[in-house]
Amino acid sequence: MQDIGREDLRILQARHYIPSGRDNYHGIRHCHIHATAYEDLYISLSRPLDRQQQQARARLHRAWNLPSWQTTPDLYIKIFNDLDLLLFAGQLYKRVCISWKDLDNIEASALTWARMPFGWWHRRIRIHLGRSLYLESPKAVVWGTVIHEMLHAYIMVVEVPLWRPGSHCEHFWEAARRLAAALGFGGLTERNIVTEADNGFW
Ligand SMILES: [Zn+2]
Ligand SMILES: [Zn+2]
Ligand SMILES: [Zn+2]
Repeated sequence: MQDIGREDLRILQARHYIPSGRDNYHGIRHCHIHATAYEDLYISLSRPLDRQQQQARARLHRAWNLPSWQTTPDLYIKIFNDLDLLLFAGQLYKRVCISWKDLDNIEASALTWARMPFGWWHRRIRIHLGRSLYLESPKAVVWGTVIHEMLHAYIMVVEVPLWRPGSHCEHFWEAARRLAAALGFGGLTERNIVTEADNGFW
């Protein structure tokens, strides 16, 4: 299915893994203001796919088309790196972790302590997917929610290092539209990425 390596799978779910060197989230330049972060994403999405991205897209397509009896919670962890490669030019790799969690009231969240004023600087940007999301939502909503949280995480990676809640502003909507188009799966629309998954941040 997904040809994600064992080590990558471990890193993806390890909340205490600390990326180093070039992979360090704090090591990259936070040169972007909000609108620029989105502008960069739009530009990257408008580029022709390179070979790695084409392969990622083919793997994602196979994952999308799996029958429901072959779909497990693991799948939504395993697609992360390919979604990152295809949609975010691999910028979330090692900087963001994702795991399932018992969440109250919300279906998913993306959060970082990194920008809080009291200095938990080493923590990773963390995406949590709630159990109810898996149990109660159709496939397109689960995929849409993963991408929704990845979009928040992307903004947290590249925006200016200011702690603030992410917003579902018009940029977010425009990005959702372009992300859905880049994925190009019939049945997955920007509404799956934004409206249906509106519990979003935190
Ligand atoms: Zn820049
Ligand atoms: Zn905005
Ligand atoms: Zn959100």
